[in-house]
Amino acid sequence: MVDWAELAARRERWLRVGSGHGKALPARLALHAQANLAEFTDYCIGSAHGPVSASLIASAVAMAFFGPPGLPPPELWRTYVDVHRQLAAKAPDPRTMNAFDLMLAFGCGWGRAVVRDGGPWWGRWEVAYPAMINQVGASLLASNRLLANQFPQFALTSDDLLELPGDFAVSLLGSCDCGHHRRECQRRCGRECCFAPHDLGSWDPLTCHLRPFVDQAVRGTATGQILGGAFAESLTYRELERQGRILRRRVEFKQCPGCGQLFDEATCPTPGCEPPEGVSVPQMVRPNWLILPEHEGGNYREMVRWVCAVCSSVYPIRFDLAAPVVGDPCPVCDWTPPSGTPPRRITLWVRRPPDSPPVGHSGAGGADGGDPYDPRAEEVDDT
Ligand SMILES: [Zn+2]
Ligand SMILES: [Zn+2]
Ligand SMILES: [Zn+2]
Ligand SMILES: [Zn+2]
Ligand SMILES: [Zn+2]
Repeated sequence: MVDWAELAARRERWLRVGSGHGKALPARLALHAQANLAEFTDYCIGSAHGPVSASLIASAVAMAFFGPPGLPPPELWRTYVDVHRQLAAKAPDPRTMNAFDLMLAFGCGWGRAVVRDGGPWWGRWEVAYPAMINQVGASLLASNRLLANQFPQFALTSDDLLELPGDFAVSLLGSCDCGHHRRECQRRCGRECCFAPHDLGSWDPLTCHLRPFVDQAVRGTATGQILGGAFAESLTYRELERQGRILRRRVEFKQCPGCGQLFDEATCPTPGCEPPEGVSVPQMVRPNWLILPEHEGGNYREMVRWVCAVCSSVYPIRFDLAAPVVGDPCPVCDWTPPSGTPPRRITLWVRRPPDSPPVGHSGAGGADGGDPYDPRAEEVDDT
């Protein structure tokens, strides 16, 4: 009745896909569980009360793989059987359910209550928990390769790669303290984080497999790139931000009048581009940019700008002594603010040219009309 070849193939597939589960795990299955595997699965099949699918048998094997020694308490196994049957009833094709994913998560407390001092089966299982840390570690390694490619300045250290998987696993298992909350929560939940993607309890196996869920928690998306807005909701960003190593902010970009390229460097980076002279360069705001501020050793500085009411270009605020000059026209479209009404202001971050003086030496009204840092001018809303 048990298709051992099918189970072995599933296990092999799972180990390949899950990569990073630790080389000790197959050995454990071979040495410890396999001796009693037939007895274990017979016991599970016998106490499942109802029809037993191939996926449920695979689950029993996965339970032997991830669980503590000995047989599980029957109530615990039936808790899993109930979860499994509810999922199978809703799944378009129950055969695609990944029993190893499900049981790994179940062993960590997903789909059930974790009972402290309830014995090894009711707590977090001794193999499932490190397997979860390994999943997070594999995801962090992959995420760091993407970071190193796209944003080398934010790449993780070898200490990060050692320490963060364990911390993130703790977060995922229901005690995230990253300070991220659902939009509608407004910090009323009384917890330190209630953002669903940071909580394994919110994982829906019918929506995605375990690893993409972990990827989303670790880097904000399961896709193969770092996206500023999504990354800012990830455990990795929250940790780096806490250490002052990264910020997601609005950044001022210029648009080249020659080739249309957006850039935040001093000149257009397009090779061979020679922008026409005497044409003013529109400046615009891009949200969700990942930066390092200059007070943390980076080269972005917080600035306040006027916003043109007609063309939305942002432009520098000049100062007359300490007071801003409110009547300056937009340098792009010549719009002039109605007298007595200052244009809208916006706080954003500007990439500092490599030869400009470090922070603290920039006086009001520099050569380019550089405005002084004034965090009170407008609240930064994207934290
Ligand atoms: Zn969190
Ligand atoms: Zn969060
Ligand atoms: Zn909350
Ligand atoms: Zn250009
Ligand atoms: Zn304008």
